[in-house]
Amino acid sequence: MATFLSNSPAPDAKFGSALPWGNDQKGCEPLNPPQTAEALAMIIITRPDATEDQIEHIVSRIHDWGLRAEVSRGEMRVVIGVIGPEDKIREKPLGAFPGVESVTPVLKPYKLVSYEFRGTPSKVKIGNVVVGGNEVVLMAGPCSVENEDQIITIAQSIRKAGAKILRGGAFKPRTSPYSFQGLGKAGLQLLAEARREAGLPIITEVMDTKDLDLVSEYADCLQVGARNMQNFSLLREVGRTRLPVMLKRGMAASIKDLLMSAEYILSEGNFNVLLCERGIRTFETMTRNTLDLNAVPVLKAETHLPVVVDPTHGIGIRRFVPAMALAAVAAGADSIMIEVHNAPELAKSDGEQCLLPNEFADLVGRIRGVAEAIGREV
Ligand code: PEP
Ligand code: MN
Repeated sequence: MATFLSNSPAPDAKFGSALPWGNDQKGCEPLNPPQTAEALAMIIITRPDATEDQIEHIVSRIHDWGLRAEVSRGEMRVVIGVIGPEDKIREKPLGAFPGVESVTPVLKPYKLVSYEFRGTPSKVKIGNVVVGGNEVVLMAGPCSVENEDQIITIAQSIRKAGAKILRGGAFKPRTSPYSFQGLGKAGLQLLAEARREAGLPIITEVMDTKDLDLVSEYADCLQVGARNMQNFSLLREVGRTRLPVMLKRGMAASIKDLLMSAEYILSEGNFNVLLCERGIRTFETMTRNTLDLNAVPVLKAETHLPVVVDPTHGIGIRRFVPAMALAAVAAGADSIMIEVHNAPELAKSDGEQCLLPNEFADLVGRIRGVAEAIGREV
């Protein structure tokens, strides 16, 4: 069971008692101290034709840097273990020495996000909802917040169906500058109204550091979108808040890239991070993206952070979304995010992939069945 730390400052102070769960956002703290001790950090393997001079040069450079070298000689190659503080060793261009064939780091490049760092899965609290426990938490809502009637109608219908968190974009990352860009502050205010009406915490995207204070006033969870997964200044800034952050995998990012981006957020002190698989670009053209469900068990093994799957953007076609949502639960996701719209043909973004409220309600029943089959609940 994770230990929780108090967040500061209270992000929803503005809404005060309007929030059923008050202002006690919580986060998880590391259980194990960071591993900074000196250790074997890098293994250099020399080429078969490396000369004695070249090997001596490598070893003496390692010593000049204040590091230790363990040399072991095979018939064809020499293996040099470099021992010392990992961060210092990573900076050195060991592959640039003449005679070097390969340089392999021993330790993983991510530390704070690694599973070993806590040794137990983390739970992240979004409003009054805990993600990362036995419950598979459903997040749902429209792609974009469009108007009062739309967001409140959808919020109420998804809550009735069993969703625990309301999603909706007020700042929209669009491929075209001519497409609907979101309602901005007005959209955030509508989300806050929907939160009051439906009693659900809200997740919404922050696209730019300049909007972070504004979005943080309203959001119970900040979304960093796929296109911003490697916006390192944004990652650092959301890391300085104590709000939960859901980081979406970039469409051309590896699982390791995703973990390294999350490391930026944790390294600023914010451990309230969820990782979201939302599909990657592949050569496939029959679907919008390829939902990489491989990422779910891999992430669950590599990191203590909860894993969310977004099958809506992952496959991008309404009638195929339920199958991928069920598969994501079976694969071990802690939370599923689904786009839902009451009038998809009028939606200002992503109308072709969002479920109708009744389709969502039907899906929740089926998700419950899969969750129960693997010992989880909805
Ligand atoms: C979204 O959630 O509406 C969105 C834009 O997602 P992504 O960043 O994954 O494309
Ligand atoms: Mn969308």
